[in-house]
Amino acid sequence: MASSSTSPEPAALRLRPGAPVLGRGPGEVQLGTDSRWSLVLSGLADAETRWLTASATTQHASLERTAARHRVEDERRREIGTLLADCGFLVPSPRRTPDVLATAGGAADAPVLGALLPDGGGMVTLARRAVRRVGVSGLGRIGAMLAAHLATAGVGTLVLDDDSPVQVTDLGTGTYRQTDVGHRRAARLEAALGARYPRTAWARTWHADALPDVVVAVCDRVVRPETFTLLMSAGIPHLPVVVGEADVTLGPFVLPGSTACTACWHRHATDADERWPELVDQLAELPAAPGQETVLSVTAAALAAGQVLAHLDGTRPAAAGAVLEVTLPEAVARTRPVEAHPACPCTVPPR
Ligand SMILES: [Zn+2]
Repeated sequence: MASSSTSPEPAALRLRPGAPVLGRGPGEVQLGTDSRWSLVLSGLADAETRWLTASATTQHASLERTAARHRVEDERRREIGTLLADCGFLVPSPRRTPDVLATAGGAADAPVLGALLPDGGGMVTLARRAVRRVGVSGLGRIGAMLAAHLATAGVGTLVLDDDSPVQVTDLGTGTYRQTDVGHRRAARLEAALGARYPRTAWARTWHADALPDVVVAVCDRVVRPETFTLLMSAGIPHLPVVVGEADVTLGPFVLPGSTACTACWHRHATDADERWPELVDQLAELPAAPGQETVLSVTAAALAAGQVLAHLDGTRPAAAGAVLEVTLPEAVARTRPVEAHPACPCTVPPR
């Protein structure tokens, strides 16, 4: 949230969109309900209460203009405005609308993102997403929904990787159509999502001068560390999503060189069961892919989108140094830490 040392003059500011102003009896209002930032102001004059309440519904007007309309004293306006700025409730009135790709110009996403970061009401975060690139490999139900979620959230470029045919089991989640069955997944998904998100850039190959910011790989039954050798050597963050028998495991979200990698995960699994490498070989050779069940698919796609966007937005994903396990019937993600394995050369211990 905003710090007191950088509080701008409140006159140029407006109340942050998405922050409700609630009456708590005479002379007292509450801003927000989230325990991370909600604020109670008490000892307010009637005019000040009316000013703050009106500011929540006239967010196009600056706090100063609304204060003048409600005849709030200048000194009190500055005093209260500084407090609100210090607590992250004020944002600058935008001089121009940033170029964002999120659905509806970010109207649904920006107020929420603006509550998390002091970034001008979420629009700066959305504008940054518009120049980011994400790869999605494995385009069954989970990968297809993930690509749609990332486009909705305003990611600029999505690279789709999967030339296997669309299966009837891929249908029913709003991505593929019946007529896509039997045709190549990446091409059909690009056609379907390209029509829904025309300003998003869709591609199927990378260029050396425009490498991905993150790659998500949806894998059947098991993930092999060799899959990520190139991404590791190029330092590209990546997230495996592994579809099991009645579960999906996301992670670890690998930040190469700083968090546990997929080889670390396998080394830990081998420490726990020396037969694990043999099982991996057999699992990788099984002919039939596990079904991407409805609840597991939508949950995994949403969780994967959350991990990718957290990274793009500059925060550490929950699956960095951990795996998120979702099992049926609960369908609740459980986090299990994954430390860097001492025998794996992927991370350098801090000196
Ligand atoms: Zn490792």
